[in-house]
Amino acid sequence: MGFDSPSRRDVLQGTASAVVGAVGLSSVAAADARFDYLDPVFTNAPLSVYENVGSDRITILDERTGGRIFQGPEQHDGRDWWYVQFSGDSGGGPVTGWVLDYGLTASDFICPLSGTVTSTYWDTRDGGSRYHRAVDISTSPSGGGQVVAAREGSVVIPPYDDGGYGNWLILQHPNGWETWYGHLRDFEVVEGEYVDRGEVIAIEGATGVGGAHLDFSVHAPGGGKYRSYYDVGETTVAGTGVPRSFF
Ligand SMILES: [Zn+2]
Repeated sequence: MGFDSPSRRDVLQGTASAVVGAVGLSSVAAADARFDYLDPVFTNAPLSVYENVGSDRITILDERTGGRIFQGPEQHDGRDWWYVQFSGDSGGGPVTGWVLDYGLTASDFICPLSGTVTSTYWDTRDGGSRYHRAVDISTSPSGGGQVVAAREGSVVIPPYDDGGYGNWLILQHPNGWETWYGHLRDFEVVEGEYVDRGEVIAIEGATGVGGAHLDFSVHAPGGGKYRSYYDVGETTVAGTGVPRSFF
């Protein structure tokens, strides 16, 4: 499974809070800017990340790596640059730096839990007869991670699902989208409550079937389509954009 060591996660959280502390709302410019402070984004192509605007390359990220806008845009050689905190991927790892505007796409949803992806969308189980229509994220074998709302919406708490999701929760978002959260230990919200994107809604647990993890899925209006995004083993950072997969 390859859970992150505590030391590595501490470093990530330390980096994230240091960046938050260093950069305020005022650093994101004007109303016509393409993104705003803390907007969730993902890379739409393999993308170079630079320490400075246009120089000192740190790494090249894989396509569809999630991130959050922290600063920008800055102009360089006639192009817009953004300072972004990216979540982990198998190639580049969690990293914060400057990237070109055209390599970023806005994300509708943020990742709900910082952890490690233990199973991804369309993984096969039961010898291939059953497809996983969600992403599993785990913080540790004992769970306990804070689960945040992927987008603003209304809370629905369905009956306990003994043979599957255990304690689970649905957020109903504007325009008919839903996100589902399974295997929760505790709820931090109540039925009917309206929550903001990023608000803590529950605690990761091991209720229902399987070890401690969050089962997370995004449901399109009408319920007919699902989308997914992550590779197994990838590190996720709560609050960074969830990449889209269209099919
Ligand atoms: Zn799952």
